[in-house]
Amino acid sequence: MQVYESVDRIELKLPFQDTPILNVYVISDGSSATVIDTGMGDGTSNMLLLRGIEKLGLRKKDVSIIINTHEHIEHFSGNHDLVEATGARIVAHSIAKEYIEKPSTQVASEDILRTLPDGAAEQLRRWSAIFKTVKPSTVAETVEDGDVLEPIGGMKLRVIHTPGHARGHVCLYDENRKVLFSGDQVLGSGTPYVGKFPDGSNGDMDDYLTSLERLKKLDLKLILPGHGPTVTEPYKRIDETIERKIKREQAIIRSLEKDHAKDLFTLTKEVYGGAPEEVFFYSSCVLAYLSRLKKQGKVEYSINGFNMEYRLKK
Ligand SMILES: [Zn+2]
Ligand SMILES: [Zn+2]
Repeated sequence: MQVYESVDRIELKLPFQDTPILNVYVISDGSSATVIDTGMGDGTSNMLLLRGIEKLGLRKKDVSIIINTHEHIEHFSGNHDLVEATGARIVAHSIAKEYIEKPSTQVASEDILRTLPDGAAEQLRRWSAIFKTVKPSTVAETVEDGDVLEPIGGMKLRVIHTPGHARGHVCLYDENRKVLFSGDQVLGSGTPYVGKFPDGSNGDMDDYLTSLERLKKLDLKLILPGHGPTVTEPYKRIDETIERKIKREQAIIRSLEKDHAKDLFTLTKEVYGGAPEEVFFYSSCVLAYLSRLKKQGKVEYSINGFNMEYRLKK
């Protein structure tokens, strides 16, 4: 489906409740193409991606560049087979490269699993098993903030490093047409997951909100997100996203004020509710906020796996 001049979207199904579809974008002038993100990498997904590309009238060998917006599994796992089919070269941020080339580094360690309740540990083990099946791929070219890519003649995409949702996340900005490929930084509906793992990896709320403020300074007409529909009111969507994140932060502060000594799981349950087996997921969100509050000097905490001691600073 064409989303704007020279850009088509291919939708790939995902096994996630909150984000059931990945938007793959294909930028093409009819004879050469750049693909943004590649899906889960399973047989069906890879087949639908190739079929989608062919339906656009492109041959496999026309695909010369694959850009990964970030290091989350549903955005790069199709790299290996797409490279094999097309010979394209992969472009990603230097931080994302580490994970794309070694997906198994995202597998949770047994030390972390030991600090989780049983149901949650099982859930995380299932996740880790998926990571182990992802075929590594080689990033041929790394990009940094401010670099400019030319996917096809006449189109320039400026790389904007937007850490927060993932450390190696980039948005791609077409300044001439005021269009932003936002990856998971801004979604078509809902707000993205921002979670920090106990070892400090993955996301960071302070970075995430700073990155959003940076995007607000761009001249934008349209946002093409990694999940959800095209965003036609970019500033409204960004403001809604900031608002929702700040609201949640305030709920965390209220919960901390109410009771001084609380473990992370209790705090998580108070703020998010959610099924017990999802506690890893939501606790990582709480940690992303706590890290921001710590940076602001509002809270002090020490953490050992998911065991945590904290206190509010007066
Ligand atoms: Zn993501
Ligand atoms: Zn995503």
